[in-house]
Amino acid sequence: MKIEIKNCEIMQWKDGGAEFLRGSIAIGEGSIRSIGEIPKSFSPDRVIDAGGALALPGLVNAHTHVSMSLLRNLADDLELMKWLQDKVWPIEEKMSEEDVHIGALISMVEMIHSGITAFADMYFSMDQVAAAAAEAGLRANIGVGLTGDGETSKPKLQSFREFYDRYNGKADGRIIVDLAPHAPYTCDGDCLSAAAGVARDLGCGLHIHLAETSGEVDECKKRYGLSPIFLAERAGLFEGRAIAAHCVHVDEADIELLADKGVHVIHNPTSNLKLASGFAPTAAMIEAGVSLAIGTDGPASNNNQNMLEEIHLAAILAKAVSGDPTAMPAAQALQIATEGGSKALGLAEAAGSLSEGAPADLLLLRTDKAHMRPLHDPVAAVVYGAGPSDIDTLICDGKVIMTGGIIETLDEEEIIKKAQEAASRLVSR
Ligand SMILES: [Zn+2]
Repeated sequence: MKIEIKNCEIMQWKDGGAEFLRGSIAIGEGSIRSIGEIPKSFSPDRVIDAGGALALPGLVNAHTHVSMSLLRNLADDLELMKWLQDKVWPIEEKMSEEDVHIGALISMVEMIHSGITAFADMYFSMDQVAAAAAEAGLRANIGVGLTGDGETSKPKLQSFREFYDRYNGKADGRIIVDLAPHAPYTCDGDCLSAAAGVARDLGCGLHIHLAETSGEVDECKKRYGLSPIFLAERAGLFEGRAIAAHCVHVDEADIELLADKGVHVIHNPTSNLKLASGFAPTAAMIEAGVSLAIGTDGPASNNNQNMLEEIHLAAILAKAVSGDPTAMPAAQALQIATEGGSKALGLAEAAGSLSEGAPADLLLLRTDKAHMRPLHDPVAAVVYGAGPSDIDTLICDGKVIMTGGIIETLDEEEIIKKAQEAASRLVSR
């Protein structure tokens, strides 16, 4: 389908900042065909009048566990290990494939409203998350969760190879399969090395939680004599595309290694704040040349999937933690959440930008509400003021996912009803 979006303010990256161009966007065969003036020969099947809205690249949620939405608001105000062991894991043991599916769908409804076109997930029963992403029309890095030791991980890695062959590249290429060893405290060194070997064989990405709490770092040093970052490197996890969620407790040597190896560090500000995990030194990481992206983490530890809130927090936390109000300016925060996320997920070269030839993954954000005015600097308005209710339209892979705040690919009302029923069943079992 060919789409023309007319009457919008198109944001483009320019020399580390953002510039706006007023005009139209022509979309065809999943990519942006032209920007600004549309050639007369372009005959669209559908025309969307943006009414002066901002056109931005789709946001990338680079670390989440979408199906954990069923555990939302169930166990709050707890410390990470207590939260996992006493609350999360017992419920997860009871979750059926259908629960994982509906949990994923309700998160996708929320992600669509917050402008997300692509996300990187890590969980179990990932065929269900892949199916939900295909239905929603979003891009998804399906991180197949792995825990255990060298021995117990063997059959799991064998079935991962089969899963990879079956799902990688599905849904017109929107599904990318990654291997997701959970963390150094749930996978031993042999399990991590075996995972790295399989990823090397298949050429797939790896997704892991690293250095989330100071307790994890102490334990890892006691057990292996290495920080989680150095342990992951020694296991071979950084040889290909690697997504490392959190990296809160990292020292200078860790940061240097992350930069050297081109590891994509995913900053999850709400989760780190809520679980009191600490403050990731993002300004120092940017300074050292680390490739950063932003994620919401799962809905059980956030409790939402609102990327605009994460971008806002990332931008203000970078300043507070570094003591430098010029750290992570608004445009940089937005670029990290779009281009940075696209790189972490291994999307096409120009993904995360509105440029000719880039994938047509974009959103329209209205600026007519009180909290967006006056609009002196549209990027500041987005980063420091915008919310999901400002997002009007979402397009992914050249297909319309939402217009006028109404989702076209999913039945929002039905999904909310079914997710509530599934969650109630889970806690009463
Ligand atoms: Zn996580």
